[in-house]
Amino acid sequence: MGNRTGTTVAGPQVEDMRSFLNTWVIPNDTRQETENLPDLAASPDDWARTLPQLPRPRADELADLLRLRDDLREDVGERGTRRLDEWLAQRPQTVRIGEGELRLEGPAAPVDVVLRQAAGLVLTERWRRLRACPDCRWVFYDQSRNNTRTWCSMYAGESGRACGSIAKVKRMRETQKRRTAAVEAG
Ligand SMILES: [Zn+2]
Repeated sequence: MGNRTGTTVAGPQVEDMRSFLNTWVIPNDTRQETENLPDLAASPDDWARTLPQLPRPRADELADLLRLRDDLREDVGERGTRRLDEWLAQRPQTVRIGEGELRLEGPAAPVDVVLRQAAGLVLTERWRRLRACPDCRWVFYDQSRNNTRTWCSMYAGESGRACGSIAKVKRMRETQKRRTAAVEAG
């Protein structure tokens, strides 16, 4: 799974969701699209270490969980919730109010647990701050005040790619070229 955990003040619910969504990765060393969820599901120890918040799926639950993860990654990529909403229509969860606090309840299957976690992040306005890096596809949490971070750099940890730096250098060079051209023309 690598050590690209990143740091965030977003809270454990966000970290749990990021761990789940980042079970599909393009690691920095291999740069190959890598599917980790089936291997994790096959190993109780690895599962407990990586996704302790989720019940480990039975063999017949894995396909649904993979589909849900891919759909949620797509939603994050679009900065939307369309697929999440479709899943919730198929597998409704229950809203309860305990001690004046909103609580989501439902079946204990892994897919249902993830759906409640995702809905919880929408309710607390944190879902819209999840981002998929356009370069390495790593899902990170945008802590910028204006919610405008695009690239994963600074979030991917020591082995991160500093994605976006190439785009920044290119922009800087173009600005310099324009300035030089302006000086030569003047
Ligand atoms: Zn990246």
